[in-house]
Parts: sequence; C-alpha cells; structure tokens
Amino acid sequence: MKVTADRSRCMAAGHCAISAPAVFDHGEDGLVVVLDAEPGEDQRRAVEVAENLCPSRAIALLDASAAAPAQGAPPAG
Ligand code: SF4
Repeated sequence: MKVTADRSRCMAAGHCAISAPAVFDHGEDGLVVVLDAEPGEDQRRAVEVAENLCPSRAIALLDASAAAPAQGAPPAG
C-alpha cells in the first residue's frame, strides 16, 4: 500500500503520529511528515486509524493493487 499526507491541509493535530508512529511523524513546523510512504501490510490497521482520525482529511491510503492494471486471463483453447 502507499500512503500520502497533504501538508497543505494538515492542522498539526498529531493523531497520525500517535496512531501510526512507524509511518507518520511531525516536522519542526509541527506538520505531518511521512516516514514510510510504502509501509508493509502490518501497518495497514494503524494507517487506517490515522486516516479516519485525521480532522483535516490530509491522509490518504492508496492500495497498491488498485494502481496496477488487472491482467486478463488468456483465452481457453
Ligand atoms: S492527523 Fe492529520 S491534521 Fe493531524 S498531524 Fe496528522 S495529517 Fe496533520
């Protein structure tokens, strides 16, 4: 999965770094910093919590599988 955080929307509320400290932190300005833009599946639940708690909807979780085009099965023959 891929994770993005829009610093232009961040209000420095801090929920993300508390919910998923392996993925998010704060810069010196207090705004979100993504530590790991492609975290493993073991971080999915924590990132989902951070995404849901973020009051400015700055965090987005993008499924890697959604970005890859599906391959069709070869015709049976
Ligand atoms: S939870 Fe949202 S508003 Fe708060 S620091 Fe993280 S990205 Fe910014």
